[in-house]
Amino acid sequence: MTAVDRLRQELHRYWGYDSFRPLQQPAMEAVLAGRDSLVVLPTGGGKSLCFQTPAVVMDGLAVVVSPLISLMKDQVDALTACGIPSACLNSSLSPGERRDIVDQLRDGSIRLLYVAPERLCSEWMLDQLQSLNVGFFAVDEAHCISAWGHDFRPEYRLLGQLRDRFPRAGMHAYTATATEQVRNDIIRQLRLRDPEVLVGSFDRPNLSYRVERRKNLLDQIREVLARHADEAGVIYCISRRQVDELTATLRAEGFKAVAYHAGLSDLARQRNQEAFLKERADIVVATVAFGMGIDKSNVRFVIHAGAPRSIENFQQESGRAGRDGLEAECCLFHGPGDFITWRKMQSDLPEEALAQANEVLRRMEQFCTGILCRHRALVEYFGQEYPAESCGACDVCLDAVATVPDSAVLAQKILSCVVRVKQQFGADHVANVLLGSREQRVLSRGHDQLSTYGLLKGARKQDVRMWIEQLVSQGLLDREGEYATLVVTDAGWSILRGESQGVRLLAGTGKAAGKKGTRATKAAADGWEGVDRDLFESLRSLRRTVAEAKGVPPFIVFGDASLRDMARRRPTTLEEFEEVHGVGTKKAGDYGDAFLRAIASHLAQVGAS
Ligand code: ADP
Ligand code: ZN
Repeated sequence: MTAVDRLRQELHRYWGYDSFRPLQQPAMEAVLAGRDSLVVLPTGGGKSLCFQTPAVVMDGLAVVVSPLISLMKDQVDALTACGIPSACLNSSLSPGERRDIVDQLRDGSIRLLYVAPERLCSEWMLDQLQSLNVGFFAVDEAHCISAWGHDFRPEYRLLGQLRDRFPRAGMHAYTATATEQVRNDIIRQLRLRDPEVLVGSFDRPNLSYRVERRKNLLDQIREVLARHADEAGVIYCISRRQVDELTATLRAEGFKAVAYHAGLSDLARQRNQEAFLKERADIVVATVAFGMGIDKSNVRFVIHAGAPRSIENFQQESGRAGRDGLEAECCLFHGPGDFITWRKMQSDLPEEALAQANEVLRRMEQFCTGILCRHRALVEYFGQEYPAESCGACDVCLDAVATVPDSAVLAQKILSCVVRVKQQFGADHVANVLLGSREQRVLSRGHDQLSTYGLLKGARKQDVRMWIEQLVSQGLLDREGEYATLVVTDAGWSILRGESQGVRLLAGTGKAAGKKGTRATKAAADGWEGVDRDLFESLRSLRRTVAEAKGVPPFIVFGDASLRDMARRRPTTLEEFEEVHGVGTKKAGDYGDAFLRAIASHLAQVGAS
C-alpha cells in the first residue's frame, strides 16, 4: 500500500472524510518523508489534519506545540472523540494525571502530545522526550514566533533549540498568517532545513461578505440575526461600552447573547465563552479581545458593528465564521466615525509606527468604501490573484449595492472638476465647487466661474465626498502631497475621454437605496441541498444533549456538515451511518445507536403524518 493510500485509509477510518482538502496531501507527505515543512492555509483550511493524520500512520510520537490551553484541550477532545490516543501536558494537571501521561508516553500508546512552548523547553520535558522516540514536531500558530506577526509570543523563540536537541526529528510549522516576512522569520527561527513550503489560497469561498454604511445599526444587525435563528455568531464592536449596551439590548429582545471584553473579570469572560462553545448562548458580543483560541467550527455569522483597524484584523475576525466549510455570512457596518476613532487611538504611536498604522487604516477605509468584489479585494490585499470574474458571494457581485445608473457620467463630472481646479485642491474643495457652494474659499479663487461649478447642485455633500472616495479606491483619482491634493490618474483620464466605462459608484443616501440582493449564495444552496431541515433540527438538539453528558462542546461530537449529511441520507443501519461525512469508526460506535434511533423516530413520524 502506498503512503497516500495509508493516509487516505486513516482519514476515512478515524475522521470519516473521503478526500483531502487543498494542499493537505503534500503537507502530509512531507511529514511522512521526514522533510521539514511550512504550511500556510487560511482558517478552516484543515491544518490540524496535516500533522494529525501522519501522526496516526507513523511510528514515533508527534509533539504538537500550541500557544493556548483552550486550543490544546479542544484538539485533544476532538482526537479522543475520533479514537486517537492523545494528551496535553499543562499546568492544570494533578501530579497523578501527569504521571499517567508520562507512563503512556513510555509505553508508546499516546500518538500526539500537546504542549505549550515554555513547558516543552523546560529541562525536565526535554529530558523526558529525549528518552522517547519523537517522530516529529508540529508547531501550530507558528506566526507567534515572529515579532512581525500580530500575536508575537516570546516563548516561541525558545523552540529554536529543538533542532540541536532532536536532530533527526522532522520540524513542521503551520499558520494562517500570510506575509512573506513572517514566513521567512518562521523558517529562520525554527531553523527549518530545506523546508517544503506550501501556501494555499487565502480565499474563503464558503464565506459571503456584505459591507454597508451604518444607518440604523440595530436594524441592520436584526436583519442579519433574522437569517440565523438559533445559530452561532459573533458581533464585534469597537468599544467595551458598545459591547455592554448591545448585549443588553439583544437580551431584552430575547436573543441568547453574552458579552466578552477585557473589562470583565476572568471568571465572567470564561463563563461567557463557555456558554457560547457549549451552545447555551448563540451570540457573543465582543471586542477584539475575543477569538484567539476559539476553535468552534460552526460559527454561521460574524458581524462587525464598526470597521476594524486593518484588513488583517477583518480577515482574521470574519474568518472565524464557517471553519467547517459550510456557508457563513460576514457583515461589516462602517461609518466615518470609526476611522476617526482609530486615528485618535493610535495617535500617540511613535512616528514610524504611526505612519504604518495610518496606511493600514487607509487600506481598510478603501476596502469599506470601495466596490471591488470583496473576495477579490481581500485576496489581492494578501498578494494573491483572484481568478473569477464574479464571486457570487459578496454584496458587490450579488448587486446588493445600489449603483448609480450612469456612473460613468457622474464620474466624468467629478474628474473634470478635479482637472478644472488644476489638480491643486483636496476632496472637500472639489465637492464644494461641484455643489455650487458660496463659500469664501470657492469665490475668492474664482471657482464659481468654472464650467463644473454647481454641476452636482442638489446632491448631498456627504454623497459627493463618498463618490470621490470611491473614485480614489477604484484608482481613477489619487492623492498627492501634504494637502492630499486630488489628481487624475491614467485610468481616470480614459474615463474622462470616454474611452472606458469601467466605473461603478454607489447610490447616495439621498435617494432611496436600491433593492438589496437576497439571492442565496451558491455555497448556501449546496450546503442545504436535499437536507431534511426538521430532522437536522432534532439531530442538533440530540447533539447538544450528548455533548452535555460527555462534557465536551457539541461541535466535538459532530460538526454541522455531518448533521446535515445525516439529515440528507437518513441512514437506517449502522453501515449506512458509517457512510455519513465525518463519521469514523469510533464515532459510529459511540453515537450511532442514539442518532439512528432519532432518525428512525423522525421517519416514523413523517410517515405517519
Ligand atoms: P485550521 O486549523 O486550518 O483552521 P482545522 O484543522 O480546524 O482548520 O479544520 C477545520 C475543519 O475542517 C474541521 O472541522 C476539520 O475536521 C475539517 N476538515 C479538515 N480536513 C478535512 C477534510 N479533508 N475533509 C473534510 N473536512 C475536513
Ligand atoms: Zn464578489
